[in-house]
Amino acid sequence: MSTNENNSGDNKKSLHFIETIVEKDLQDGRNDGRIQTRFPPEPNGYLHIGHAKAICLDFGIAEEYGGICNLRFDDTNPVKEDVEYVDSIMEDIRWLGFHWENVYYASDYFGQLWDFAVRLIQEGKAYVDEQSAEEIARQKGTPTVPGIHSPYRDRPIGESLELFEKMNSGEVAEGKMVLRAKIDMASSNMHMRDPIMYRVIHIPHHRTGTKWKAYPMYDFAHGQSDYFEGVTHSLCTLEFEVHRPLYDWFLDQLTEKDYRPRQIEFNRLNMTYTMMSKRRLLQLVQEKLVNGWDDPRMPTLCGLRRRGYTPESIRHFVDNIGYTKYDGVIDVSLLEHSIREDLNKKAMRVSGVIDPVKLVLTNYPEGQTEELDAVNNPEDDSMGTRLVTFSRELWIERDDFMEDAPKKYFRLTPGNEVRLKNAYIVKCTGCDKDENGRVTSVYAEYDPQTKSGLPEANRKVKGTIHWVSAGHSIDAEVRLYDRLFTVEDPAGEKDKDFRNLLNPDSLIVKSHCKVEAFLKDAAPFERFQFQRIGYFSVDPDTTAGKLVFNRTVSLKDSWNKIKSKQS
Ligand code: ATP
Ligand code: MG
Repeated sequence: MSTNENNSGDNKKSLHFIETIVEKDLQDGRNDGRIQTRFPPEPNGYLHIGHAKAICLDFGIAEEYGGICNLRFDDTNPVKEDVEYVDSIMEDIRWLGFHWENVYYASDYFGQLWDFAVRLIQEGKAYVDEQSAEEIARQKGTPTVPGIHSPYRDRPIGESLELFEKMNSGEVAEGKMVLRAKIDMASSNMHMRDPIMYRVIHIPHHRTGTKWKAYPMYDFAHGQSDYFEGVTHSLCTLEFEVHRPLYDWFLDQLTEKDYRPRQIEFNRLNMTYTMMSKRRLLQLVQEKLVNGWDDPRMPTLCGLRRRGYTPESIRHFVDNIGYTKYDGVIDVSLLEHSIREDLNKKAMRVSGVIDPVKLVLTNYPEGQTEELDAVNNPEDDSMGTRLVTFSRELWIERDDFMEDAPKKYFRLTPGNEVRLKNAYIVKCTGCDKDENGRVTSVYAEYDPQTKSGLPEANRKVKGTIHWVSAGHSIDAEVRLYDRLFTVEDPAGEKDKDFRNLLNPDSLIVKSHCKVEAFLKDAAPFERFQFQRIGYFSVDPDTTAGKLVFNRTVSLKDSWNKIKSKQS
């Protein structure tokens, strides 16, 4: 097996610890130089950005070292699992740009696992325990106090075999019996104190129906599934580190050949202002605290996709944070930085006015229009230019005008000049207000000599504002998103109800926005930069008559500023 080409050459990136282990295994000729990984989601929820970290590693290692990565649904608990989740998981992995070699289900191995369990009973290494879960827990001891033996530990092998059959035939009620491995009740590792291998569940399974009533526990199913498939490197998150001796113990009983999978643990992704627990995310959806799994405020991959995130930005983010042995919390602004960088290169610049007020150019002839050149993306000449229509009446942002402005206000205020993006310099002359003092129209005079691109246009003005022509724009709804939670670590606030930590301003809908007519055919998931405001993506709620945009991210990080102002 050759060494990794991506990591050789001039811009050599240092290997992370898992790459180092894999390269060493290749050098040592382990497993005949074969590299095989798996991504093993439990189909009990939608994938989130944390899973993306695992996906990039599992598929990435296989790609990097010429191996394969399989998708394995870890469907050993029929209570929480569903096909809806299976489909969404596949869609999200494909969207990220990865390809699995095969799709497997842990339930495919129920037969093999059963046979192996029977073998362990026959060898005196497993027994059926008839005690309650509470009793078993009581006997477990503590890390410093050894556990005590179950009265069923040394029951005759034949009896355990018979009862194990009954656990699966439907004759045993849930919670009445379990199969336990007979290992060591005094082990310093609690997972080795006669761990449970099988329990009884009477709910039908989404793939195997009512065939099974005895279901294997994660610890019994996972390593064996790895083994049956030929996995060489079983990569998982740090909480499984303490399970590794058990993973190895089962393999010791099973392996006859040289081949052997190894488990390696890495740090899980936690991110500020959100939660990664599938249980919590499910609650948010079920209690309608968000609008479904793909709500753009969710950390799910479908939510991020709907928000306007690109797969490249997510992969780049994951690559940046890296893989270590230390758990920590990543600032969400790093993810936002990643999408800004990507869309800065890719997104077409357009004009969108979120909170419009009319600007009338009193010296511009009524009925006249002009087509002005606009650069589609200054970062990418190949994206070309387009024409935008200019006229006497324009929409501008309400906060780009102030009647009594402070000194450093460089936008429109009576007597002040600003540049209209891609158009002329205009001088503000005043405004109209309604009886409540709210501005209804702003007035200005344009200078015909200052058309963008002409020699006179070099005249210095401090501010540039964006606009759309009132007669040539279309209405749009814009959804402005902010962090879902008000605190950095909502999962850490154990004494508070997480519902009370939700940010009441995480979604603000602006329903009377004006965008340039060019956007009338924009398709769902297309992404744009609204100049001076941020990056926006067309929401799938868009219909022929109604454009809806989601703000992916603002142009600059405004959150830290707001926070420092508040404190
Ligand atoms: P559950 O709480 O239901 O066990 P889970 O988050 O562990 O959920 P799985 O479907 O079991 O989800 O995860 C599939 C794979 O993704 C596992 O290998 C797991 O270690 C990994 N994974 C899950 N969450 C994260 C995370 N936040 N960061 C990195 N990897 C993760
Ligand atoms: Mg899990």
